[in-house]
Amino acid sequence: MGIFADMKMYWRFAWGLRSFLRHTISLEEAKEIVRRRMAEREKNFLRLVERGIFGYPRSPYLPLLKLAGCEMGDIQNMVRSKGLEETLRALRGAGVYITFEEFKGREPIVRQGRVIPVRAHDFDNPYLSHYYQVETGGTTAAGTRVEVDLDHLAALAPIYALADEAHGVLNVPQAVWLGILPASSGVNHILWYAHNGQIPQKWFSPIVSRDIRPAFKYRLATGYIIAAGRLFGASVPRPELVRTDQAAVVARWANKTLESHGSCLITTFVSKAVRVCVAAQEEGMDLTGATFRVGGEASTPAKVAAITRTGAHSYPMYHLTEAGLVGMGCGRPVACNDLHLLKDVVGLIQHSCQVPGTDITVDAFLLTTLLPTAPKIMLNVESDDYGVIETRSCGCPLETYGFTEHLREIHSFRKLTSEGVTLVGSEMVKILEEVLPAKFGGSPLDYQLMEEEDEQGFTRLSLLISPKVQIGDEAAVVETVMEALGRSGVAADLARAHWSQAKTLRVKRMEPIWTARGKLMPLHLARHPERSAGTSKELKIASRNKLTH
Ligand SMILES: [Zn+2]
Repeated sequence: MGIFADMKMYWRFAWGLRSFLRHTISLEEAKEIVRRRMAEREKNFLRLVERGIFGYPRSPYLPLLKLAGCEMGDIQNMVRSKGLEETLRALRGAGVYITFEEFKGREPIVRQGRVIPVRAHDFDNPYLSHYYQVETGGTTAAGTRVEVDLDHLAALAPIYALADEAHGVLNVPQAVWLGILPASSGVNHILWYAHNGQIPQKWFSPIVSRDIRPAFKYRLATGYIIAAGRLFGASVPRPELVRTDQAAVVARWANKTLESHGSCLITTFVSKAVRVCVAAQEEGMDLTGATFRVGGEASTPAKVAAITRTGAHSYPMYHLTEAGLVGMGCGRPVACNDLHLLKDVVGLIQHSCQVPGTDITVDAFLLTTLLPTAPKIMLNVESDDYGVIETRSCGCPLETYGFTEHLREIHSFRKLTSEGVTLVGSEMVKILEEVLPAKFGGSPLDYQLMEEEDEQGFTRLSLLISPKVQIGDEAAVVETVMEALGRSGVAADLARAHWSQAKTLRVKRMEPIWTARGKLMPLHLARHPERSAGTSKELKIASRNKLTH
């Protein structure tokens, strides 16, 4: 599917962008929007269920609700008497949930002996957001939604303003170091800030269009956003190429901005923030006054320490493409990855779930979308993440909106995340179990990918290859992995482009690691050796906190 799937969508986007950029919101308006959503979260949930599920005959949730003997009136009554979270738990108990693999369309839904075929596309939000606002029904199905959805961006923008206020970086000069389309994080952050009336001065991108295939439509879309922004009075910066190994360019911008303004904000992936800080130290720069807003992967103690050594501050965000923003860094954190759960955007409960390929169980996060702009309709959808949820009073401004639940120690168990690029396991598994043995010999048991943090806090991927396999040229193995990634889809191709720059992947000649039961987990996630000493077997897989983009 194209970035602008058809002409109608293209024109809707074009006109929408004009209004989006012209109608910026103030901090007070941002606060009002979030407070209202918090007050109406149960109502928002019921409206989404009524129209997006019961009002949509193809909804994959309908057969589950039918099997559970649950109708709209039952859900209304439950929400009224028990509240939203208890309702979600009751629905989970009655079989109304979707596993990660089902949500991705990789496995059919099987409940009570019934098999319900499902595709990932079936979970798309079938209606445009305004459909949920009008009081009478109708058939205003959106058809195809654009990948850069302005309504959804506008819905999430207020939270960034609130977070910036809590971290003391509202209206400071800012830059983003994020890729261009098809990675949406760069465009999204530029547009979020434009909507809040704070356009970043600089857009550094580690990728340019010639690095990715197919490039033309994405180049066109990026160019359009810049041109339209300028036409409508928003001076959207043009992306400047700053490769992963050129972090010093960003460090120098920060240093210069700190000299003139005393503060600055840089939004990037956490590993790139670490690179900026390492470069700053190498050039003898002090970054006191700089704030990094980071996502993409782990805000681990080693990474946060590398950032704070320069005098800079960082705060994490937790964004899931399908659901929207899930968490935002606390202003008075108790851990390096302490986030406020954004209860106006999602409902979140936990449920015990088995890690594929192991006998380990974790309390997975089950997500429910509450905003009508959500790209997917999610009702108790098992995410790839698990972690700690706790209610705690922190005293930071974010709790005054009712965000009293904190998330921390968020770990992912199916994906590898490095340099801010997430690669769903199954694509990599195919390379490890099929492509490499076919080309270099050995069996699927001889190859394993391990994610670990090196001494500097960078996430590295090690390709473990059994010493039994005779390989003359290890670089050829890395090259084969990169080539195979390039062939297996846009997301994997992006990972390839980032990883090859960062030299993220390295070969280690050792036997792959086996779990207690003897089953091989092709993707083994390990902690830094010193920190994993004496920890439970669970920690072997719980390598990092993950903030997905
Ligand atoms: Zn807080």
